[in-house]
Amino acid sequence: MSSEIPWHALEADESLKRTDSTEDGLAADQAGRRLEEQGPNTLEAEEGAGPLKLLVRQVHNPLIYLLVGAAVLSLAVGKYIDAGVIAGVIVLNSLLGFFQEWRAEGALAALRQMGALHARVLRGGEPTEIEAAQVVVGDVLLLETGDRVAADARLLSADELQVDESALTGESQPVGKQPPRVDEEIPVADRKNMVWMSTNVTGGRGQAVVVHVGMQTQMGQIAGEVRTTVREKTPLQKRMHKLGLVLGGAGIALAAVVLALELVRGYRVVEAVMFAVAIAVSAIPEGLPAVISVTLALGVRRMADRHAIIRHMPAVETLGSTTVICSDKTGTITRNQMTVCKLWADGKTFKLTGEGYRPEGALRTADGQPVEQLPETLETLLRIGVLNNNARLHQDGGQWRAEGNPSEAALLTAAHKTGLDRKTLQGESERLHEVPFSSDRKYMATLHPQKGGDGRVALVKGAPDRLLEFCSHVRIDGQVVELDAERKGAIESAIGDFATDALRVMAGAFREFSADKDRIAPEDVEEGLTLAGLWAMIDPPREESIQAVSDARDAGIHPVMITGDHAATALAIARKVGIAGDGEVLTGADIDAMDKPALAEAALRSGVFARVSPAHKLKIMESLREQGHVVAMTGDGVNDAPALKGADIGVAMGRAGTEVAKEAADMILTDDNFATIVHAIEEGRVIFSNLRRVVYFLVATNIGEILTMIAALLIGMDLPLTAVMILWVNLVTDGACTIPLGVEPKHWDVLKQPPRNPRESILNRVLIRRMALLTPLMAAGTLLMFWIAKPAADLAHARTVAFTTLVAFQWFQAFNARSHYQSVFSIGVAGNRWLLAGVGLAVLLQVLVVHTSLGQTLFGVTALSAMDWFWIVLTSSSIWVADELLKRLGVHGQVPQRKGSFSL
Ligand code: ATP
Repeated sequence: MSSEIPWHALEADESLKRTDSTEDGLAADQAGRRLEEQGPNTLEAEEGAGPLKLLVRQVHNPLIYLLVGAAVLSLAVGKYIDAGVIAGVIVLNSLLGFFQEWRAEGALAALRQMGALHARVLRGGEPTEIEAAQVVVGDVLLLETGDRVAADARLLSADELQVDESALTGESQPVGKQPPRVDEEIPVADRKNMVWMSTNVTGGRGQAVVVHVGMQTQMGQIAGEVRTTVREKTPLQKRMHKLGLVLGGAGIALAAVVLALELVRGYRVVEAVMFAVAIAVSAIPEGLPAVISVTLALGVRRMADRHAIIRHMPAVETLGSTTVICSDKTGTITRNQMTVCKLWADGKTFKLTGEGYRPEGALRTADGQPVEQLPETLETLLRIGVLNNNARLHQDGGQWRAEGNPSEAALLTAAHKTGLDRKTLQGESERLHEVPFSSDRKYMATLHPQKGGDGRVALVKGAPDRLLEFCSHVRIDGQVVELDAERKGAIESAIGDFATDALRVMAGAFREFSADKDRIAPEDVEEGLTLAGLWAMIDPPREESIQAVSDARDAGIHPVMITGDHAATALAIARKVGIAGDGEVLTGADIDAMDKPALAEAALRSGVFARVSPAHKLKIMESLREQGHVVAMTGDGVNDAPALKGADIGVAMGRAGTEVAKEAADMILTDDNFATIVHAIEEGRVIFSNLRRVVYFLVATNIGEILTMIAALLIGMDLPLTAVMILWVNLVTDGACTIPLGVEPKHWDVLKQPPRNPRESILNRVLIRRMALLTPLMAAGTLLMFWIAKPAADLAHARTVAFTTLVAFQWFQAFNARSHYQSVFSIGVAGNRWLLAGVGLAVLLQVLVVHTSLGQTLFGVTALSAMDWFWIVLTSSSIWVADELLKRLGVHGQVPQRKGSFSL
């Protein structure tokens, strides 16, 4: 390939020929074949962890090395059965870990698919949306503002195409792109006829034929951006990995000290070694890493079921700490189903009946009289709405649906209702040029040939207060008159009236030019406009928003609405859903004038921002974060990417969002719904508390065991538990209980608690206090039963009693672990059916160990009498009684008030 002329030095049609493609793109089957040959268009170093890798990951683990060491030591001192059992445990643990992580991997792979980025290509001439990973050489990419370029491609056509290439070249200014060929020698950054993978389209549109995919792209070659997305380890997983190592290290050190002490005290070498091995083993939480990844994976799958797709794993933990949700209004808090219900022209207000996008409805005067003849100015306004429009309406099984911007679709419907048909109008008047809409500009302008003349006319629609600034005239009763202060006042008051009715207002205006005008620039339409009139549309709040706002408040989270819309509209909607704090609305201008601490304070107090641009969003987010808040921020446009990246949780809209916003986000909402953010936070809290349950439970077992062993040693008792017994407790007994604890269903009070402090460790004060109070009980009970069973007379029996007592303690602890401060009766004893099954299984397995000859041989145990069982269960249940008492006394913390309950 190197001797060939590079793509940028080829003409556009030559590059189509060389890729064996056409202007209509590839045929679907041709693309399918190429995908098989070329492989997926990704930069990911590993596409999912294969089974072998997963298995290796299980064995390649310091804790496993320790167990291998224990097995070898047991072998060395002639304890063959112990060595065999430990080896068996290693295999079992690895297999269990493997299957658990396999399941987790499956769940995550499905998620990766859902969170995947997309691209629009021509397949057989038809625009088709496909996953970016499926783009092949020869595909014709359709590029629009907000798209992320899916592969390296040679431009075929471009219309004001602007691309942000900072990810590749470091150049922060967007680069203009045009198709003509350029010199062969030119550096990458100046190849204006090429677009590169992972760069962002910030303006205009274009088409380009793909020439390189995957690792052959410029991005692939510098391999600077190998994405890990959902496979990233969360901070908690990293900390737990460290905790495992620390505990393991401490176990070994302790074991060494014990070994030395015992040898000095004259124990037999075999005994001393087995004691030391048992201590080392008791300190290690073997099951922890696997159960944490499974708990996380099942949790994010539950989130996906509730329409929130996690793209970055650490976000799962951060979600539970969210203190502020900054949300867009349109489409997130409201439904984004716009209907024009009022119009203003010629100084008069009109009503338009009908619902949704169905073009059926009638025009009436303000007092409800039918309008027979469409007034001329109103017709101009409606024509502007149709011609200055990129949306489409189509019928789908009797339902009218909008494609594109819903506000624009509403303008089409409005015109259609009065008999102005899109196809006819657009056929009459072609569009010569366009200044596209952007959230910064807040208007859109198009240039057309003048109707019935040979001049040109620019049609403009946009935010009314912004357009009014550009208007010098207004059209009244067919005449263009000067926009004096009085007329301007009347228009502003009409806008104000609409907005306080929670209506979204847009203005339409025009400006005439001479026939030689064939392009328009923003400067052309930012002065000298003539106002035609106003559209007022209704966009009702989503029903769920009201409940979600109230849930968020209960959960100690501040909802903040940030919108580009008019201040009065914003406030009216905010009032409807309960966001408006003190009734004040802050605008973009206010934000510019404030310093960050004042802004953060104002955001929490008022909760409503209007007329903001994406840069303001960034400032609001930063000011809140500087005050220590954990901020979730929504966004959909290409300019929202910095705010999404900078927020603790960047939330992109799955439906209305651009690919750029999705790529920058930590989480994608598949239903674009504000309530989904609150659900995801709730789920995030549930996941974190489930992790806490699992960690508490496992670490408490380890501490209970260490205490038992050390106390036995200090008192000078025989070894109450052997290494294999301890392994059994850690892996089998605990294993049966931890996975169910990891899926503990949410408790009623999840959203009644304040957000978790992100700096608080998973083992917080409450958990440590509970361990300090309860694990000595575990050790004392086990040793007491051991002592009563008279080890001097029958050591094997006494060990069986101690072993079973320790196991039984875990059965009760599993129920304790379900809540750290609530009685198991108030959350429902049978609330977690999996746990009932898990504990049932643990009991059954213990009975099998104690009462079958195989179990007795492997574990060196003897059968227990009914009386033994009675005392064992009685003793071990003390941990449950004690914990219930502590909870009742409120030692671990107070239960929040249930709604509807009362206190004296
Ligand atoms: P949010 O920020 O909550 O999504 P928004 O959609 O109102 O709200 P923007 O998209 O930034 O925010 O729009 C700002 C303003 O620009 C709108 O209030 C409207 O008046 C105007 N506007 C929106 N879409 C268009 C469009 N396609 N053409 C012209 N003007 C538009």
